[in-house]
Amino acid sequence: METINHLVRTIGERVAGGPGEHAAAKYLTQRLTSAGLDVDLERFTFRGWRTLAPASLDLHDSEPVAAVALPYTPATGPHGVSGRLARAGDWPLIPRRLVCTRFTLRDTGGNAVAAILVSPAGEARPLPNTQPLLSQPTVVVGASDGERLARLTDSGADVDARLVSPMAWEGPLQSANLVAEAGRTARAIAVTAHYDCVTGSTGANDNASGVALLLRLAQQIGLETRGDIGFCFILCGAEEPFLVGSRKHVAELAAEGALSRIVACLNLDMVAVGERFSIRRSHGPPWEGTAEAISNSFGSTLPIGETGPMPSSDQWAFHEAGIPSAQLTREPDPAWHSPEDVSERFGAEELDEAEQIAAALLLETLARCADGRRRRRTR
Ligand SMILES: [Zn+2]
Repeated sequence: METINHLVRTIGERVAGGPGEHAAAKYLTQRLTSAGLDVDLERFTFRGWRTLAPASLDLHDSEPVAAVALPYTPATGPHGVSGRLARAGDWPLIPRRLVCTRFTLRDTGGNAVAAILVSPAGEARPLPNTQPLLSQPTVVVGASDGERLARLTDSGADVDARLVSPMAWEGPLQSANLVAEAGRTARAIAVTAHYDCVTGSTGANDNASGVALLLRLAQQIGLETRGDIGFCFILCGAEEPFLVGSRKHVAELAAEGALSRIVACLNLDMVAVGERFSIRRSHGPPWEGTAEAISNSFGSTLPIGETGPMPSSDQWAFHEAGIPSAQLTREPDPAWHSPEDVSERFGAEELDEAEQIAAALLLETLARCADGRRRRRTR
């Protein structure tokens, strides 16, 4: 909890490329170093995007709807764009994980000129943009406002609206991955967690919880090896702009011809709140069946389930590169990406439970990777 309280209360918002994220990188480098790990700072520059004013949806004859711009989508200019509101099906913001109701504004020719996504719960909040190539002004509205829009469009009435998604700043920002190892092995399982958070939140569960868990694991099992395989710990910057740090790290590995050194990746993201643990993993070895294996090995008070791969966090960057990867998470967390993601919602007990599960999962996977290699060699 000391790590979490420092990140959340002392530092606060840790938006990628901003002073909070830089302060967190400095603090976490110190923590890793004092835990006896060698830390390599992998700096990178990325394309930053920040709104300079709140967005809104004006329905002419009723209250304007509060909205938050979807990152990396274009601004409308101060006067906004106008059109007729229409339902436009469900939009898979994160395929298989987060599907949002979508509305569009259409011009008189029937062409969509802007899009409106409905938050899965609560108020409008910054949701991730996994497809930044789409170039339409797009905003997120709160769940109850989404219901109101649905009632309006379902009533069959013509609803004319104006969307304002004003100025956004774009430019180069600096971030860094902290790559730490207790001892260098020929091959490694990468253990990752991101230390940045979204605007308007101090990210206690997302993802100070995963960072604190990674620090504990580095101390508890950092020196464990099996054959020539050990662990490598990576605190990733700029996850929220959509996996920028982890993708950068994987690209560097590929450039150095070192991708094959990483035999698997376990990413820790949002591990302290929710009614169940979930392992979102690549198909096949070593991850498939690990939930059952570790559930049997000790008595967890919460169910542990498995799902297929999901582009929900940094493990996806490794998965994309063909490295068998998994995200350990607890779900659901209704405060995800909101100002309510504060550290008062959990304590040492939740972190202990996550630590037990993550350590068991990593040791099981280490054994599976080492055994798999031995089997291949003797075949
Ligand atoms: Zn996260």
